[in-house]
Amino acid sequence: MTGPTKQEHANAELLAKLDEVLTTVVAPEAEHTDQSGEFPWKSVRALAAGGLGGLLMSRELGGQEMPTVVYAQAVERIAAACGATSTVYMTQMHCAHPIALQGRADQRERWIPRLCSADAIGAIALTEPNAGSDVATMTTVARRAGDSYLINGGKTFISNGDVADVIVLFATVDRSRGKNGITAFLVETTELPGFRAGTPMKKLGQKGASTVELHFDECRIPMTARLGDEGMGYPLLLRSVAKSRISAAAQGVGFAAGAFDATVRYCAEYGLLSSRTREAQDLQFSLAALRSEIFAARAMLHSVCDLVDHRADDPTAEVSMVKLHCTALGVRVSSACAELLGADGDRLDLGVERRLRDAKITEIYDGTNQIQSMLIARDLRLATSH
Ligand SMILES: Cc1cc2nc3c(=O)[nH]c(=O)nc-3n(C[C@H](O)[C@H](O)[C@H](O)COP(=O)(O)OP(=O)(O)OC[C@H]3O[C@@H](n4cnc5c(N)ncnc54)[C@H](O)[C@@H]3O)c2cc1C
Repeated sequence: MTGPTKQEHANAELLAKLDEVLTTVVAPEAEHTDQSGEFPWKSVRALAAGGLGGLLMSRELGGQEMPTVVYAQAVERIAAACGATSTVYMTQMHCAHPIALQGRADQRERWIPRLCSADAIGAIALTEPNAGSDVATMTTVARRAGDSYLINGGKTFISNGDVADVIVLFATVDRSRGKNGITAFLVETTELPGFRAGTPMKKLGQKGASTVELHFDECRIPMTARLGDEGMGYPLLLRSVAKSRISAAAQGVGFAAGAFDATVRYCAEYGLLSSRTREAQDLQFSLAALRSEIFAARAMLHSVCDLVDHRADDPTAEVSMVKLHCTALGVRVSSACAELLGADGDRLDLGVERRLRDAKITEIYDGTNQIQSMLIARDLRLATSH
């Protein structure tokens, strides 16, 4: 038997540090964040102060250079503790990732260390009122004007949008070119005339993770703010979603695990795990089935993370399968837990109803689960069942 490798040791150390921050700061704040709808600054800063930001970013840019599976484990655990914090945390990564993929050295050096340390908050803006699933129909335009671009249009449902220092914005330089006109920009929001963020929307769950509209009215940004070449936004977007869909899948497992753990604690407190009555045994069997489901989904998630890191060909279908499966699991398991507890499942203080509310939107964002089904179905012509 060989002992743990250096990488396995580093992974375990990082997750132990994460658990400490979750137990001491993030979990105790979760109910307040949910009830007040306040942005979870304290939790986000505590994670960054613990060196837990930018897990996928390179060390020279302030990250931890961790494999995707460790990032997924981190998102799962943060989601189990506080849904809103997990969304802010992963949005930081969703903003940093395209900069790492397609940014110039000066863009990477300016923003990635600050996103890792949470000295800057980031957002990524694709969705528009009339361009959600089909982003190629976006109408936010970037028009060349001398050595600048003038941005006009609007985005909606943008996570972190009202508090973001930097936004990875996708806009079209030529609507007639469809997806080939889509171009990415790094928009710095401080003192930017013509830019306005709306007030946070009232939502079902993940309250505290702000979701806003963004408005651009003759907003002038320098030519150097472009992220990659004109027309390279769509391929960048496709490369970025592999990681963001894994984030959503990890949240699904996290919400399921959070609801399940709360249910097990409740059942233990009332002696229902050791009782041998018929009713208690039915309950125990239901819990056993849910535990197996979470275990299987987690194994699937970890295996897709390994594919993303190590497989050369396109893992789109596998990423879609894990997003579809794990986000549906989050809703199904948290709902089953609420039912098992009877009326107590509706109690705020037990935290099961919060996980159920937090889970629902994971089936919709980062590409709805219908879109994931479409991507998996498209791949059927090429696939075997493994
Ligand atoms: C809390 C929250 C946070 C978000 N954060 C961000 C963010 O940070 N950045 C960002 O850019 N966006 C963000 N979004 C937007 C999110 O990604 C979109 O809502 C999502 O992509 C779906 O787009 P839509 O709402 O326009 O739905 P639509 O595309 O209008 O779809 C409506 C329905 O039709 C179905 N449908 C659409 N097309 C097809 C098709 N071809 N085949 C079958 N069914 C189809 C969909 O599955 C869905 O059920 C966020 C949304 C929420 C609610």
